[in-house]
Parts: sequence; C-alpha cells; structure tokens
Amino acid sequence: MISRPKLVVANRKMHGNLSDNRQFMESLLRHTQQHAAHYAICPPHPYLYQAQQLLQGSHIAWGGQNMSRFERGAYTGSVSPLMLREFGCQYVIIGHSERRQRGHDNDESCGERFEAALNAGLTPILCIGETLDEYEQGETDLVVVRQLNPVISHVGIEAIAKGVIAYEPVWAIGTGKAATPQHAQAILSFIRGHIGLLNEAVAEVTTLLYGGSVNPSNAAQLLSMPDIDGGLIGGASLIAEDFIQICKIAN
Ligand code: PEP
Repeated sequence: MISRPKLVVANRKMHGNLSDNRQFMESLLRHTQQHAAHYAICPPHPYLYQAQQLLQGSHIAWGGQNMSRFERGAYTGSVSPLMLREFGCQYVIIGHSERRQRGHDNDESCGERFEAALNAGLTPILCIGETLDEYEQGETDLVVVRQLNPVISHVGIEAIAKGVIAYEPVWAIGTGKAATPQHAQAILSFIRGHIGLLNEAVAEVTTLLYGGSVNPSNAAQLLSMPDIDGGLIGGASLIAEDFIQICKIAN
C-alpha cells in the first residue's frame, strides 16, 4: 500500500492584515518543522508578496485562493495563474463552495481552471462537496461525481494526481459541525474509488483532503482515517496556535 504524505492547507479567506499575516507566518515558521507532513498557507491575494518574502526557502508553501482560467487579458479584478507563479505560489484553491454559491465558479469552469493551474506549474486544490439539502436527500455521491467528472474529462485522468481534491461538505464549512470521521472517510474512499475505476494507480497516489470545521480537537481522528490525506483548514487557520496544533497532529 502506498503511503501518502499528509498535507495541511490554511484557507485564510478574506481575513487578516499585514501585521496579523506576518505574525501568523512567523509563528508557523518557529513552531513547525518539516517531518512527514507538508504545509501551505493561502492568504488573501494582496498578501502573497509578503508570503513569498517570509516563506521562501522554508518548509512552508503558499498559494492563491482562486484564479482566472486565462493567463492575461481584459479581465478586471481577476488574478492570472502566471501571476500566482510569479509570487512563488505552489498551490491554488479552485471551486471553493463560497465561490460556487455566489455563482463565480461552476463545475465546467473548475475543469478549465484546474487545467490552467497545471499548465502554469501550480498544484490546484479542487474543492467539492454537497449542500445540507443534498446531504439530507442522500445525494452526496451524486454531487461529488457531478463536480469531479468535468474536471476529469477536461484534463484526463492521469492529470488528476497532479492536483489535490478537497472534500468539503458545505454544511460543515464554518459551522463548527465537522463531518464525522466515518462520513468523511466514506466519501473520500468513494471519491478514490471513482478515480480508481478509470485508473487505479492515479487513485492510489492522489492526495485527498477533508475540509469543514477541522480544529485541534477533531483533527487527530479525522486525519487518522486511511483516505484522509490532510485537511483544508478555514476558521482554525485564523489562530496560529490552533493551526500549528493541527500541523503537528498531521506530522
Ligand atoms: C474552508 O472554508 O475551506 C473551511 C474548511 O472552513 P472551516 O474550516 O472554517 O470550516
């Protein structure tokens, strides 16, 4: 059986300022070490230069929270994959539910962005997951397949392993109600199985994350599940001590 290194990613959303971001990154540098796990921070885009200055050459990677599918052009307000690369980003979050819900992202455009991210040398972190309503209707499997398939058809199954897939049930994001480790494991195992139907080797090596109200108290149980290769952390990445604890649990 292949052992996949754990990955812990901070999604700092639209929080923080220069001084708060600096403190967060400096604490992380001081209190975490590179062992087995990998860490990344996705601050708001204006702070990527600061991340590059502080984290370059360290064991902590950084990334964007979204990007355009286009490299350049008349797209006011958008950020190009090439720009993220220029600021040293390794990762980019794609299709977060907070963007899907506002109509900024959809299943098709996620395929295009996933491809554009890979072309630029970025590792896309594709977020998928069902709403509360879909969960209650027992439609989780259908929803994640619906969200995943356009990306697979866009980039081809082999390219899926070059990215990361984060299962983030919408009802668990920012609510304090994390999925049970059993539920998260069942869905991530289903996602791995779905990829495996097309290519078993790709399924074995693809990094799958769970996201949704992960905190220092529930991280150990969630991260001990065989198909949970790490976490995408929102609220608990706003307090350095909490995020550091989760990083240590992953190691
Ligand atoms: C997220 O928004 O990606 C997330 C996982 O948020 P939270 O940890 O706050 O639920």
